[in-house]
Amino acid sequence: MCSDSVVDSLFSEQQIFDDGNHLLDTYESQRSTLPSATYPPSYERGTDLESLTYRYDAFFFDAFGVLNVGDTAIEGAAKRVAAVRKAGRQVRIVSNAASVPLPLLHAKYLRLGFDFALDEIVSSRLTLIHHLKSEPARHWGVAAPAGADISDLGVEATNLAEYPDAFDRVEGFIVLTTTAWTHAQQQLLEEALQTRPRPVLLANPDLAAPRENGFSVEPGEIGRRLREHANVAPQAFGKPFPLIFDMAVNSLPGATIPRRVLMIGDTLHTDVLGGSSAGLSTALVTANGASSGLDWDKAIRDTGIVPHHVLDHI
Ligand SMILES: [Mg+2]
Repeated sequence: MCSDSVVDSLFSEQQIFDDGNHLLDTYESQRSTLPSATYPPSYERGTDLESLTYRYDAFFFDAFGVLNVGDTAIEGAAKRVAAVRKAGRQVRIVSNAASVPLPLLHAKYLRLGFDFALDEIVSSRLTLIHHLKSEPARHWGVAAPAGADISDLGVEATNLAEYPDAFDRVEGFIVLTTTAWTHAQQQLLEEALQTRPRPVLLANPDLAAPRENGFSVEPGEIGRRLREHANVAPQAFGKPFPLIFDMAVNSLPGATIPRRVLMIGDTLHTDVLGGSSAGLSTALVTANGASSGLDWDKAIRDTGIVPHHVLDHI
């Protein structure tokens, strides 16, 4: 591997998306790779979910930018989830979270003060695991930190951080997370795919995630670079693609009318576009996350991705 300190720096910590506008423009440049959807003609403006609690049967909460920013809970979010639950509504986390197995993700939200049960969380990692059951058996190379537990994938898998010589040997790649992913590894991946194209599965289509100190770069950006530099089209799991919404809707008890499910998120191109594509109702929250600091009304008009509701927070 190249020892140059710049090349070896962490991919996730690169300051690519300095603000919400840049992030929005990059998502929009990838629009042809995203599902299509139909949208309401206009949105209703509100402050929070209080007046909407009885208008919907179930509430799907995006995590980053809605429940938390990085490892910090958003003020009032846990109380709102508990209130919605107390009103007899179904609640789920529907998150492009793929870095850790479900029990660790569940523990994080308990630690942050939320009352979600394990089976109320639908993560993009779960979606990928579900999909892998239908893939032909293959030896996968996995982008994950050294020592990460990847046994839940249920496939033959080699951690690329532990075996840097495996890029040539494996028969396909799974990008679980950018945590600890380096520019040197990104270069190895691009070269390996240029030499011999192989399937690439992305366990998180997000380009970025809101953290306490700005945006981290997420697996969607790895996918964007692979399309550009290695001429491969990764298959992505998680919002805005259909499987995660199908799994979340199927987890609800009884018959569900999709329009009576509200998908709440901070990102137009994942939460609102994906929720709409799945036939759900949608709400954009603007106080934290991808849409904070954004002229979101202009963004909605420019992209045509119109939510049913715009709220400050939940
Ligand atoms: Mg989010």
